Amino acid sequence: MTKPPLTLYLAAPRGFCAGVDRAIKIVEMALEKWGAPVYVRHEIVHNKFVVDGLRDKGAVFVEELHECPDDRPVIFSAHGVPKAVPAAAAKREMIYVDATCPLVSKVHIEAQRHADNGLQMIMIGHEGHPETVGTMGQLPDGEVLLVETVADVATVTPRDPQKLAFVTQTTLSVDDTKDIVAALHARFPAIIGPHKEDICYATTNRQEAVKAMAPKCDAMLVVGAPNSSNSRRLVEVGARAGCDYAQLVQRATDIDWRALDGITSMGITAGASAPEVLINEVIDAFKNRYDVTVEMVETAVENVEFKVPRVLRETA
Ligand code: SF4
Repeated sequence: MTKPPLTLYLAAPRGFCAGVDRAIKIVEMALEKWGAPVYVRHEIVHNKFVVDGLRDKGAVFVEELHECPDDRPVIFSAHGVPKAVPAAAAKREMIYVDATCPLVSKVHIEAQRHADNGLQMIMIGHEGHPETVGTMGQLPDGEVLLVETVADVATVTPRDPQKLAFVTQTTLSVDDTKDIVAALHARFPAIIGPHKEDICYATTNRQEAVKAMAPKCDAMLVVGAPNSSNSRRLVEVGARAGCDYAQLVQRATDIDWRALDGITSMGITAGASAPEVLINEVIDAFKNRYDVTVEMVETAVENVEFKVPRVLRETA
């Protein structure tokens, strides 16, 4: 049987970012240095395939520090943790390694600097997301006010509108965040913020590639996890950029082939925590059903790399 033709657009950049790559390396190197089990507080990155792979090598994933024994190393996930977490680990004299992405740590430092200058913080982020919890937890309770939408800006009640600063989660939609920042500046003209939002290079680049790819595609798939903020934003960006069918899939088995009936062009990208092996699995699934011509849609070249913490670079 002849296969129908399909142009498969592949977004670039896609998939792993430098922060995710570093976090995974940290767990692997910790297992080498200290042996199993090594505890990891929260999914090291939001991807089941990655987490399952590390679990097989001896990592134990927990949600809270109190679930870890005192005498085993613990690693904090790439999303960052409230200050109280390393403080509690230090008090228990535990070995801990912080895999917080350096670009998230930069936001933590910013928040602390503004607070030291007497400013109250507004955080633009998603309630309950571990990165938002971690950044808000850099300062005492009540010092950081959360804003999720433009509508929230109208109701937020700071102590002193003249003494305000804002930070953002790193994995937000660039366009939505611009609107929220504009609303903040309109309501609080004295508010101080970063030159650009704190949205990281990887989030920005993946969204730009999707904007360039989406209008060419009958349908688009984002390889990523449902709890991955940057992956979910890619689905929204694709739909807004003109692709009628944009869906998140974790693996090839999630593809709804009936919904794709009759397509002649397909776009594929992946969130920052999705490994290339899963992207290839999805591409292969299309190659099995279609006569595929692959075309790259490349909008940026990334060469960012972050060092792992010194404790892991030293020999055991
Ligand atoms: S998405 Fe951005 S902030 Fe998050 S881990 Fe990757 S590089 Fe760091």
